[in-house]
Amino acid sequence: MKDFHSQSALDYLPKQKLQELQWQRLQTVLKYTYQNVPWYRERLKEKGVTPHEIQSLEDIAKLPFIVKTDLRDTYPFGLFAAPLKNVVRFHASSGTTGKPIVVAYTQNDIDVWQEVVLRALVSYGIHEGDILHNAYGYGLFTGGLGLHYGGEALGVTVIPMSGGNTERQVMLMRDFGVTLFSGTPSYFLHILDKAQQMGVDLRKLPLRAGAFGAEPWSEAMRCKIEELAGIKAYDIYGLTEIAGPGVAAECSCQCGSHIFEDHFYPEIIDTETLEPLPDGAEGELVFTTLTKTGMPLIRYRTRDITCLISEPCSCGRTLRRIKRISHRSDDMFIIRGVNVFPGQIESAFLSVEGTVPHYQIILTREKDLDNIEVLVELTSEKFGDTIRSLENLRQTIARKIESTIGIRVTVRLVEPNTVPRSEGKAKRVQDLRSL
Ligand code: ADP
Ligand code: ZN
Repeated sequence: MKDFHSQSALDYLPKQKLQELQWQRLQTVLKYTYQNVPWYRERLKEKGVTPHEIQSLEDIAKLPFIVKTDLRDTYPFGLFAAPLKNVVRFHASSGTTGKPIVVAYTQNDIDVWQEVVLRALVSYGIHEGDILHNAYGYGLFTGGLGLHYGGEALGVTVIPMSGGNTERQVMLMRDFGVTLFSGTPSYFLHILDKAQQMGVDLRKLPLRAGAFGAEPWSEAMRCKIEELAGIKAYDIYGLTEIAGPGVAAECSCQCGSHIFEDHFYPEIIDTETLEPLPDGAEGELVFTTLTKTGMPLIRYRTRDITCLISEPCSCGRTLRRIKRISHRSDDMFIIRGVNVFPGQIESAFLSVEGTVPHYQIILTREKDLDNIEVLVELTSEKFGDTIRSLENLRQTIARKIESTIGIRVTVRLVEPNTVPRSEGKAKRVQDLRSL
């Protein structure tokens, strides 16, 4: 197997060297995509741009964007740059509506992906001898195989659990002496509940870290997970279109995820004007894949909202970081004219003692007026309190949420284990307004 270990050195390249590498790779990928993807040639022609006009990294802003619907419109193979005989694997994003998005991987792309996942695991302090319990779904979804191959490349023992059968997950975590967990934060919370019911205290197991991603999660959620499981909970970010998990990952400082920008060149744009924004400003994350050959994407709009952090990180990595993804531009809902995203509500109520990170947001409309109801689950101890103290708690939570999002909400406290659990990405919002 290819040795990817030395690649971690790329995390520490001096800024100028990194930019030189990016520039060299950008020229190659642009030329390659222009030559091999007729759709892309057409797109550039329409916009009146040729690859020769791109004379520096900054010139990337002259190129048109690629958006999710472009991937749907060219379904299934319209954006492939490599011949099918060189495509060794497909993945597809779940695509809640209509056709999925199909991504082609050449062996080179699989190698790039393994390398970045390995670098992510190294930055969490994982090494040979660690045992990875991989609860990301296996299949077309990238989570499972992404962590699997990256873990193996590092020399970690990988347990290909996938999601589901939660009781067995707890049993194996205990019996196999698992040291690292990977999966969605919402599923891990479900595992934590189950462990408690089974009388297994995760804090007493060798488990010391988790790689959590595939869905937005708040800092408050991180604190709960770290406290309840006695582990370090690290963020891992990625998306199928660009590779899968491992596009960016936290280091031990837990202050933003380093982007593996020698492979994935990031930009932040203003969602209204579509102009590039400086580091530090919040906007939509855009990626250009610098080394992929199966389906390279130039200026792909992720719809994820964050900002780039270029200040040095105390871990010594020179790769820029992204702030925790606060939301996806399409996750946001508008209620009585106010833009709200689920993470704001999550952060607000989780700061109140007695709540657990299981919740649902239900949007309804009555006589043209939007209503928002938040179902918040309580701990068993709290649920046994007097009616008066529960009512006080309910009001405290409502006030917290109201002061965060600026509108009144109805809070309903619900019994432990009643909010539906997810085995993959959690679905927090039920919008019943259009029904
Ligand atoms: P789908 O598009 O079907 O949801 P993907 O796995 O490709 O399937 O989803 C990628 C998206 O998941 C990202 O664009 C982002 O919105 C979200 N995501 C992935 N990792 C994280 C993370 N660590 N924090 C927040 N959101 C994340
Ligand atoms: Zn760092």
